[in-house]
Amino acid sequence: GEKIRIGIVGYGNLGRGVEHAITQNADMTLVSVFSRRDPASVQTLNGVPVHPLANISEFKNDIDVLILCGGSKNDLPEQGPAMAALFNTVDSYDTHAKIPEYFDAVNQAAESGGNVALISVGWDPGLFSLNRLFGEAVLPQGATYTFWGKGLSQGHSDAVRRIAGVKGAVQYTIPVNDAVDQVRSGSLPTLSTRQKHTRECFVVLEAGADAAQVEQAILTMPDYFADYDTSVSFITEAELKRDHAAMPHGGFVIRSGKTGQGSTQVIEYSLKLESNPEFTSSVLVAYARAVFRLSGQGQTGARTVFDVAPGLLSPKMPAELRKELL
Ligand code: NAP
Repeated sequence: GEKIRIGIVGYGNLGRGVEHAITQNADMTLVSVFSRRDPASVQTLNGVPVHPLANISEFKNDIDVLILCGGSKNDLPEQGPAMAALFNTVDSYDTHAKIPEYFDAVNQAAESGGNVALISVGWDPGLFSLNRLFGEAVLPQGATYTFWGKGLSQGHSDAVRRIAGVKGAVQYTIPVNDAVDQVRSGSLPTLSTRQKHTRECFVVLEAGADAAQVEQAILTMPDYFADYDTSVSFITEAELKRDHAAMPHGGFVIRSGKTGQGSTQVIEYSLKLESNPEFTSSVLVAYARAVFRLSGQGQTGARTVFDVAPGLLSPKMPAELRKELL
């Protein structure tokens, strides 16, 4: 049949990842990238054309699903509703606390435009959310544990970079092995924030900056570091470039519970990602296929991973899925 025509809004790490992922999906084709920057200054990997985001409405008849690759903090709150009024969309909005209000804004826009908008897809929120739901539904008596890492946290790295005297920095989130082992044993431990994860910072100082002062500012930063055991190492700019340029991440969702007369059951879902953005983009692309199909059924409005039947993600037909995967 005809290929699903995809557009990318915003060309950063996720935008590049989506461009790669589409080449791995034979039923999709990438029509264009849209950017707020001067298109002449944005070079795509495979020479896909770049157009100004301001002109995107001219492409209404050329694109089936737009994949929104902007940042959750400043871009998506504006772009999510604006694009859902014009196109079917998928995004990876990950500010968990604000998802309900983001859903409402996108839902209103998608309904008004007659489009389907799937929000907060990726691995967390996304595949991890699904696994939390499966765990709770199957084992109603138990507890759910999410561990992140080892991985680079963009938000925490940014927070360290904003401290006066810091020239560059990365922050890794690391699950505490002992806590993971306890959870895996099915003993249903109660774990504090500090007992679950540690944080590791690698910092390049500005010339003349006071290392002790910077370290203190990190260790005492509320919300980000104060509730964790954090280590700070000072490195050179060359070391930062050489050893910390990759964006690995991952983690585990574990549900443990009791059934029958006290049988212990443990469900574990785990990700080990060499590139967080490339993986997230791959999830976005699979869900773009589902959005295309939901829209084809005449559905409209905002959706989350909880609302999408898994078969819609697969390029295979339902009969093939029953034969091969069931
Ligand atoms: P990013 O690289 O910072 O890109 C964000 C936006 O910044 C782009 O859309 C792009 O928009 C602009 N941009 C990129 N490179 C630029 C440059 N060199 N100069 C100026 N502007 C530039 O962010 P990202 O790593 O792709 O991540 C995007 C969001 O994904 C994150 O905020 C995070 O919330 C979310 N995420 C979610 C999950 C999940 O599991 N749900 C996982 C990972 C990430 P223009 O092209 O319009 O300028």
